[in-house]
Amino acid sequence: MSEMLKWTATEALAKMATGEVTSVQLTEAVLARAEARADATNAYITICREDALAAAAASDARRAKGEVGLLEGLPMGLKDLFCTKGILTTAASHILDGFTPAYESTVSAKLAAAGAVCVGKLNLDEFAMGGSGEHSFYGPAKNPWDTSRVPGGSSSGSAAAVADYQCYVATGTDTGGSIRQPASFTGIVGIKPTYGRCSRFGVVAFASSLDQPGAMARDVSDAALFLQAMAGHDVRDSTSAPLDVPNWVEETPKGSLKGLRVGLPKEYFIEGLDPVIAQAVKAAADKMAAAGAEITEVSLPHTKYAVAAYYIAAPAEAASNLARYDGMRYGLRVEGANLTETYTNTRTAGFGDEVKRRIMVGNYVLSSGYYDAYYTQAQKVRSLIAQDFENVFTNVDVILAPTAPSLAFKIGEKSNDPVALYLEDAFTIPASMAGLPALSIPCGTAEKDGVTLPIGMQLIGAPWAETKILQTAYAWEQLRGTFTTPFNT
Ligand code: GLN
Repeated sequence: MSEMLKWTATEALAKMATGEVTSVQLTEAVLARAEARADATNAYITICREDALAAAAASDARRAKGEVGLLEGLPMGLKDLFCTKGILTTAASHILDGFTPAYESTVSAKLAAAGAVCVGKLNLDEFAMGGSGEHSFYGPAKNPWDTSRVPGGSSSGSAAAVADYQCYVATGTDTGGSIRQPASFTGIVGIKPTYGRCSRFGVVAFASSLDQPGAMARDVSDAALFLQAMAGHDVRDSTSAPLDVPNWVEETPKGSLKGLRVGLPKEYFIEGLDPVIAQAVKAAADKMAAAGAEITEVSLPHTKYAVAAYYIAAPAEAASNLARYDGMRYGLRVEGANLTETYTNTRTAGFGDEVKRRIMVGNYVLSSGYYDAYYTQAQKVRSLIAQDFENVFTNVDVILAPTAPSLAFKIGEKSNDPVALYLEDAFTIPASMAGLPALSIPCGTAEKDGVTLPIGMQLIGAPWAETKILQTAYAWEQLRGTFTTPFNT
């Protein structure tokens, strides 16, 4: 593998700044890696070779004129949920066959304006519904640590590609854990910012009150850098927050563990959590304590209701959002004898089983007679979860918890048991329900069935406290030392 692929994004930008390499050279190297590893990892749905090389050449020309954006010339990947003008956007669904958007998502437009080069569109669970990547119409992405295992999901291709050096950084989206859980399964850093920090405009909608774009990278500095370019107010998303974007690149290295109040929620260390993960997260807490952090146990009593409430709220919103796929305006159309039959045929052929399951659950919980019993209750639980966090954040600066209850599991291991897969989200869903910023970072590895697998830990912050969790993650990264992968040859 070319040495330049192993650089961090920050290093790659520095090398371009000194003229040691060009964006075209970096982009060529990334494309070659992505193409060579396509069969093994299935990380990309579309590799944009020609567009990427043209964008890289344009970036090199801008640099020659002294026009240098924050991500000038940096090859990156986009989860295939972000609409890209003129480039196939699939959401990993058959129903979006041949859909080339007429517009660009705000986030991808911002990244392009910062000089980033999109090398391709990354695999995911269909409409971002899932936690393993197995629900993709294009087949599952594979975990580079062991390609018989899932990379997590739904940002499965983003995680696999970043971990496997097939791009420096990638976008993800997180509705109930889809950035953090795949980050933990592949040994990378993933940050879901506060709901409203990044625009959802042009991101194919799953559950609009929960969906949030975020950054996936191989270290904390790169995640901070990439998120900084993605974030910011957007008038085209009514839930986007009118706040200035902090200078995370400068602020992230300034944190300290001395006197930092870290809460370990007792509800996250429960039966069902792989003991090896519990041990690694607790060992990280001990190490942070030795470096001056004040670790205390905290309680988030409504945690146990989070999964149940989420699997009412998210499908309800999904059922409404997915009503637009009727075969009339874009994507797949399977003709029938009349309009209703065409709708039915199109939706029957176009949606996968998991998406259909959620549409049915969503319409059920929204139907009259069941609305109050399910949907209204779920919304109440959501408030209680947010209240739990608010209470805890009066006493601690950050919450430290496992990201996921298990290590990366085998492809097929849980695919016949939707509920088993839903329980994988137990530790990521609460922060999503409360709209809080949360990050996953590697805290160790474990041996399982003869392979080494990464372990992720999660840092959850108060609303808009991305700076605090990035600083904490950075300080932890210094303490932990380099995190090496066994496959980067
Ligand atoms: N795994 C969760 C789900 O299936 C979360 C998905 C996501 O965050 N997009 O809904």
